[in-house]
Amino acid sequence: MKIFNTLSRKKEEFVPLKEGEVNMYVCGPTVYNLIHIGNARPMIVFDTARRYMEHKGYAVNYVSNFTDVDDKIIKKANEEGVEPSVISERYIAECKKDMEGLNVKTATVHPKATEEIDGMIEMIQTLIDKGHAYVAQDGTVYFKTRSFKDYGKLSHKNLDDLRSGERSLLVSGEDQKQDPLDFVLWKPKKEGEPYWESPWCQGRPGWHIECSVMSRKYLGEEIDIHAGGEDLIFPHHENEIAQSEAANDKEFAKYWMHNAFLNIDNKKMSKSAGNFFTVRDISEKYDLQVLRFFMLSAHYRSPLNFSAELMEAAKNGLERIVSCVGNLNFLLESAADAEMTEEEKGLIKEAEKYTVKFDEAMDDDINTADAISAIFELVKFTNTNVSEQSGKAFVQALKDEIVMLSDICGLIVDKKEEILDADIEALIQERQDARKAKNFARADEIRDMLAAQGIVLEDTREGVKWKRA
Ligand code: AMP
Ligand code: ZN
Repeated sequence: MKIFNTLSRKKEEFVPLKEGEVNMYVCGPTVYNLIHIGNARPMIVFDTARRYMEHKGYAVNYVSNFTDVDDKIIKKANEEGVEPSVISERYIAECKKDMEGLNVKTATVHPKATEEIDGMIEMIQTLIDKGHAYVAQDGTVYFKTRSFKDYGKLSHKNLDDLRSGERSLLVSGEDQKQDPLDFVLWKPKKEGEPYWESPWCQGRPGWHIECSVMSRKYLGEEIDIHAGGEDLIFPHHENEIAQSEAANDKEFAKYWMHNAFLNIDNKKMSKSAGNFFTVRDISEKYDLQVLRFFMLSAHYRSPLNFSAELMEAAKNGLERIVSCVGNLNFLLESAADAEMTEEEKGLIKEAEKYTVKFDEAMDDDINTADAISAIFELVKFTNTNVSEQSGKAFVQALKDEIVMLSDICGLIVDKKEEILDADIEALIQERQDARKAKNFARADEIRDMLAAQGIVLEDTREGVKWKRA
């Protein structure tokens, strides 16, 4: 499998650090609002990369953070007169709902910045002790960019070029910096802001340090893949590399993957210009599976344009697969319970070439555009070759292949299963109602009934979650 590595600017053969295992970190959203469709792009494409690697047999540890302390969160909290955690918790819950609609798998861990402050203080102290950071008079801690010789290796910038553009790099507390290139690790509190105790001042972390700390804590000092949108290459990921490698003396991440941006009607998405959609906006008009399909219809490193026409095309495209599977379900109900004929066996062999095509596309830097074309070809082949005379085993084999490939893309194409999901939801609701009415016998009965069908319930703060065991 090949992956385009931003570090080398080349497609490289993917060789994990530990055989059979992939440790992957994807920078997550800042939670001050509903996520927009641009934020959904990295979620969908890297979830698809994860699913494909799992399909290939890798055990994937997938960590994606929520940035829950940030100027925008604090501003919104002050506007509403509530604690920042009220805002961040609200939008984490909303984000999880959107992720569910987009069929993005829950990460192995979804750490939150505010719960990792001790680790950040520890890493900052290590950087100070090693001479890579210093404390200014007001207690701000800066990373000494020039102390890290590889600075710029990801964004392919050199320090002197950066210096000439230094005005754009100046951030708060600039007058206390030893060098305009230095960046903030810890900053003093301001009135009305949340803060934590630290050896330097009461304050809060800079943005970049959280990812270095969470990645190390949950995945180790060296990881296989670090990913995010291309806007994060500089300065966020460059700074993460500087912090982590200066603190750990190890290569932080072996492969760096970045998705290109999503534009709307060929323009940058912008709230003020009125071309801005949240995932929730889209869900009012479309099943979110259509949005997922739309995102995967382009390669993740190509800019993607969002428009009403393209969404309609995505809707039709997805429907082609769904209706093919629906037709197979229909045929399965009445198909004869026969073994495959020699002719059918031959056709199944022929159909397998679409899986090979799919795998080749995904092995080539997760080329979902070509992978989806392979699914379309398989659908066309299926529509041409099945009929009311087809045997059950044959129809089932074709259905399994289409569903398997779609599933790797996170696309739910078997509506029969979806009805089943709705039944499960209804039973869960009935169990909740029974518990409210203190009818625990009925509640337990429902739990056992679901368990017998391999459905595991989990009571969480956000409500009842379920999964197929
Ligand atoms: P943020 O909340 O701004 O930190 O963004 C969360 C993730 O969404 C990051 O990986 C960003 O690179 C990504 N992102 C933000 N806007 C877009 C966009 N228009 N297209 C693609 N990715 C985006
Ligand atoms: Zn990050």
